[in-house]
Amino acid sequence: MRNKGIPTMDVMGYAAQSATDALAPFSFERRDPRHDDVVVDILYCGVCHTDLHLARNHGGFTTYPLVPGHEIVGRVREVGDAVSRFKVGDMVGVGCMVDSCQQCKPCLKGWEQDCAEGPTFTYASIDRHDGTPTCGGYSDTVVVTENFVLALPDGLDPAGAAPLLCAGITTWSPLHRWNVGEGSKVAVIGLGGLGHMALKLARALGADVTLFTRSSGKEEDAFRIGVNHVVLSSDPAQMAVVAGRFDVIIDTVPYDHDVNPYMPTLTLEGVLVLVGYMGPLGTPVNAGGVVRGRRAITGSFIGGVPETQRMLDFCGKHGIVSDVEIIPIQQINEAYERMLRSDVKYRFVIDIASLKS
Ligand code: NAP
Ligand code: ZN
Ligand code: ZN
Repeated sequence: MRNKGIPTMDVMGYAAQSATDALAPFSFERRDPRHDDVVVDILYCGVCHTDLHLARNHGGFTTYPLVPGHEIVGRVREVGDAVSRFKVGDMVGVGCMVDSCQQCKPCLKGWEQDCAEGPTFTYASIDRHDGTPTCGGYSDTVVVTENFVLALPDGLDPAGAAPLLCAGITTWSPLHRWNVGEGSKVAVIGLGGLGHMALKLARALGADVTLFTRSSGKEEDAFRIGVNHVVLSSDPAQMAVVAGRFDVIIDTVPYDHDVNPYMPTLTLEGVLVLVGYMGPLGTPVNAGGVVRGRRAITGSFIGGVPETQRMLDFCGKHGIVSDVEIIPIQQINEAYERMLRSDVKYRFVIDIASLKS
């Protein structure tokens, strides 16, 4: 091992330099591995709508340069001397977090996403040991604490598996929390990256699944991935047909929207789980929609490391991967524009080998 923990490893990537600049090639340094670090040669990185929110500063807190990307699949190149679970050549995944305090109550429960000190995110965060900004998977290498590296099950297509690291776990976690299984009735709002994973996972868990979409034209794709029913959310007649039906609704819409029309479609004690939009809802929630029928509106944020591994193992067993459009990194700006138009089937995944061309 060389300069343990010191950023001297040259890395190529793509970064946003401001909210309005296109992403462009960017060279930076990563640390040489600390004792407990795994160095990963990145093969594929999924393109999450969060990358776009952060690159374009939708939340108002982005600092630049920003190297996005938290749906990472790659091969282990090197390990620190205290690493025991991974060896050179292993196929691994890295998701939204690369570290946490590992001592607080949520961390000890395996809910690192809710670490009392805040987890270290894969990008747009500050490394808790050396104070350097973290950079994501739109790059050729990542260095990650062993505890935040996931084992990729054999047989899963690496490009298709990359989106499991965020879209997969973000939808798996609430499906489990709300006990979705055989016979559950689940609806998902939005057929995008998160939405199509929610539908595939709920189906594999044995649920009857319905897609709420505002886009006519997605029906054929929805049925192909196993959806049982499609409801055009802009059509009140179609909405009325599913009144009182769902145990769980997973809402993946990335922007402000009115949740009220969905509330009557929940059954007694049904829950609507917000996972997409994190800002203030412009249309007030009608309290009657939750008071009547003991319904609830709740939320869910990614998922912990142990449940991410369980989700990956489940996907390995059931052969579940994302439907992907593989792109060279040079097309990332066009991909963002298409994502804004909901024109992606259903996740862009960057082939990181393209960084060399
Ligand atoms: P995506 O691939 O762009 O899909 C979003 C889907 O929502 C679209 O395909 C569209 O589906 C629907 N939609 C888009 N804009 C809409 C609007 N203005 N009104 C109504 N429906 C709209 O996005 P994604 O990658 O799945 O991410 C979805 C959201 O989840 C983002 O905001 C992202 O930041 C967030 N996220 C949250 C977590 C978490 O931990 N909670 C983790 C990851 C991502 P239809 O065309 O079918 O209507
Ligand atoms: Zn994401
Ligand atoms: Zn913690």
